Amino acid sequence: MHLGLSDEQEAVRRLARDFVEREITPNAVAWDRAEEVDRGIVKKLGEVGFLGLTIDEEYGGSGGDHLAYCLVTEELGRGDSSVRGIVSVSLGLVAKTVASWGSEEQRRRWLPGLTSGALVGCFGLTEPGTGSDAGNLATRAVREGDEFVINGSKMFITNGTWADVVLLFARSTDAPGHRGVSAFLVPTDTPGLTRRTVHGKLGLRGQATAELALQDVRVPASALLGVEGKGFSVAMSALAKGRMSVAAGCVGIAQAALDAAVRYAGEREQFGKSIAHHQLIQELISDIAVDVDAARLLTWRVADLIDRGLPFAVESSKAKLFASEAAVRAANNALQVFGGYGYIDEYPAGKLLRDARVMTLYEGTSQIQKLVIGRALTGVSAF
Ligand code: FAD
Repeated sequence: MHLGLSDEQEAVRRLARDFVEREITPNAVAWDRAEEVDRGIVKKLGEVGFLGLTIDEEYGGSGGDHLAYCLVTEELGRGDSSVRGIVSVSLGLVAKTVASWGSEEQRRRWLPGLTSGALVGCFGLTEPGTGSDAGNLATRAVREGDEFVINGSKMFITNGTWADVVLLFARSTDAPGHRGVSAFLVPTDTPGLTRRTVHGKLGLRGQATAELALQDVRVPASALLGVEGKGFSVAMSALAKGRMSVAAGCVGIAQAALDAAVRYAGEREQFGKSIAHHQLIQELISDIAVDVDAARLLTWRVADLIDRGLPFAVESSKAKLFASEAAVRAANNALQVFGGYGYIDEYPAGKLLRDARVMTLYEGTSQIQKLVIGRALTGVSAF
């Protein structure tokens, strides 16, 4: 078994690390305080190829394998989870899904813009009344001739107020297929679609999270992504890969927590010596280090399975479950190393903890990941 990186993968990691240190880290606290990432970062992410990873070059992508995608995602998560989430959604949940499920026309229409950063995508599954039980969504799409008329609402949509296109899931009432859910690519300037920013988030404050309302939104039948009635499979396949991306972002958070804790432990003195000399501080640091390694190895395994064309969905749930809980533990341990200074945002631990917390909630809560893993092991669905 070979767990090292190829020269090419090392080069991608270096490129990502340099990009993050130059373009993201110096701004992360200011963006967090302002509750808005500078939108110019999207164009820059596109120029450096990070919005086109794993997408074919003929559609404007930059190629690369899923391990490279994880390496970039980890570095982005290390710098600022708000920026990491923009990429995980616009590329990971939207562009990749269009590449996998879209018609040739849909790929040509959307992928060059999404991969260059000229366009931003968002993923509209959750609703005010349905989160974990996403298949029970209430948004309706009714066919009228060559059009669908969509009514409903979506909640907590990352990139929501920035996005140019929403990959929207709605119950297509006449569809015979799986739960009757269909996927649509809806331009956000379509009449009847309105957006409201969700303020007051604990973390990911720089990210544009929105509530979407759809009132008699008309889209042509060509906006349907994949087969009518099979949209739930589209959503679940997007989330299976998305969970790997969340896990990689969590590795980045945990690594940032480790770096910060080690640095501070060497600088801060109490009882006449640096706090690194105290055994209980070393315990906190070593706990973070083990979490980082374990989360990273679980995440890389998912990337390896995908790149080898093997089943990966359950492994992705395991990686997401472990890495998200590990990121919360790691950031909390780092905060403890910083003492009172960990509690103010001039130091990194507090923001890492706030940003880590949501990772155990979205793209399936920790409880939902356990049900996915438990179902695979026992053959019994406990949802
Ligand atoms: P609920 O489903 O109401 O769950 C409440 C509690 O009940 C949780 O603890 C849950 O684990 C537990 N629970 C539910 N069912 C079970 C069960 N069967 N067994 C045991 N426990 C159970 N959604 C999108 O579609 N697109 C996005 O871009 C997006 N971005 C997000 C960004 C942020 C910052 C946040 C906070 C959320 C985002 N979401 C997004 C929504 C997210 O995926 C949901 O919040 C999540 O799936 C949980 O749904 P819920 O909040 O409705 O909680």
